[in-house]
Amino acid sequence: MAWGERVSALTKDGSGGYRGRTTWEPKGVAARDMEPGRLEKFPSPGRGSGLRALKRARPGELLYRAEPFACTVTKQRLGGVCERCLRRNERLLRCSQCKIARYCDTRCQKEAWQEHKRECKCLKSIEPNFPPDSVRLVGRIVFKLLGQSAACPSEKLYSFSDLQSNIEELSEEMKEGLRHLAQTLQLYLRVEIQDAFQLLPAIDIFQIFAKVTCNCFTISNGEMQDVGVGLYPSMSLVNHSCDPNCVIVFEGRQLLLRSVREIQIGEELTISYIESLMPSSERQKHLKRQYCFECNCLLCKTQEKDADMLAGEEQAWKEIKDAVAKVGDPRSQEEWEQVLAMCQALLNNNADRLPDTNIYLLKMLDCAMDACINLRRWEEALLYGNRTLKPYSLYYSSFHPLRAVQMMRVGKLQHTQDMFPQALETLKQAYNIMKVTHGADHSLVQDLMKLKEQCEADMRAQ
Ligand SMILES: [Zn+2]
Ligand SMILES: [Zn+2]
Ligand SMILES: [Zn+2]
Repeated sequence: MAWGERVSALTKDGSGGYRGRTTWEPKGVAARDMEPGRLEKFPSPGRGSGLRALKRARPGELLYRAEPFACTVTKQRLGGVCERCLRRNERLLRCSQCKIARYCDTRCQKEAWQEHKRECKCLKSIEPNFPPDSVRLVGRIVFKLLGQSAACPSEKLYSFSDLQSNIEELSEEMKEGLRHLAQTLQLYLRVEIQDAFQLLPAIDIFQIFAKVTCNCFTISNGEMQDVGVGLYPSMSLVNHSCDPNCVIVFEGRQLLLRSVREIQIGEELTISYIESLMPSSERQKHLKRQYCFECNCLLCKTQEKDADMLAGEEQAWKEIKDAVAKVGDPRSQEEWEQVLAMCQALLNNNADRLPDTNIYLLKMLDCAMDACINLRRWEEALLYGNRTLKPYSLYYSSFHPLRAVQMMRVGKLQHTQDMFPQALETLKQAYNIMKVTHGADHSLVQDLMKLKEQCEADMRAQ
């Protein structure tokens, strides 16, 4: 039995599909809750249930704040972030039992014990293997369901048992992948549950995997790096649009649903389940495969941005598309050097064959910027970063967290180059978006404010 993940994309992608960004972590939590009774569940025509506004909302309002029903840190971030609060930390305490789970301090460890207790033995029992993210998450869900007596606060609007599994509509390939994961889970849970399938019919493992497939959220940190996966049943009510009126960002493991447009009373709330940098045909394929529906939003109907996304010579962008897809998860200096060399070569070769707005070229610019930041080549990183800003504003129009975060990164790079007035201007623009997408009390915005102050101080000292 292989421990690899066969169903690759198992999550609603709040992150826009970018990984491995090296940037700056939010600290501390500021909390101000939304007023009750702002939202309600309703039958959304042609889409099952949905969520709609009971009050008018302006852009930048916090509509819902939710703790997860279950979540876990991703395998990729294991050992780099705390398993409880999902914050990055250089020095984490190890669980003395399994020696795998890691925490900021004893407080985080204590808070995590309830969800880690039974899993701890399972993790230890399968060493040196480690379960795929979805298996670890489902393990936590099974233990929670076995021990749960009352509804979890995350189930306020929609419960775990309400969640759609879309089993009848899944492709054979998808079903086969889920069956494989269910077998992996059985091996993983063996020390704690003799036969996970004997839990039937009370707990249907296959069905849980199907539910996780179409309801799981990627938990990203403030800067949109993927750190975990989790279920937030009430938020599964929010339907998809490629041009949504809401966004989801996270503060630690807490999910925040925020409006990015004017929303009228009775209007349906929407988020994007997938990354934006895909032409409409690919978005449709993706949504159909994983979420079993066809999007009929205006962007999909008009295919408005497709021509820009695929501008330039087809052969050239296909080569770049393949190259970007092959960049895994570089960690060492040497690996980053290789990635950068590859990017430089392809960017040079295609300089007059593809505009920066071509989405695959844009992804490559992003990749080159990441590599340079990791290699501490600030000047070159800024060069690539600058080139991304215009295409970002084209594809992430109005308020989008990714655009704000990208501006913050560029502003920070300008600061390292002593370009204080430019840095200040970029950071101000980032702030104007971020106060809507993240909210003024989000820890990332606090970090941005500090950066802005530092920049102003440096300007005065000049
Ligand atoms: Zn912690
Ligand atoms: Zn442990
Ligand atoms: Zn659409």
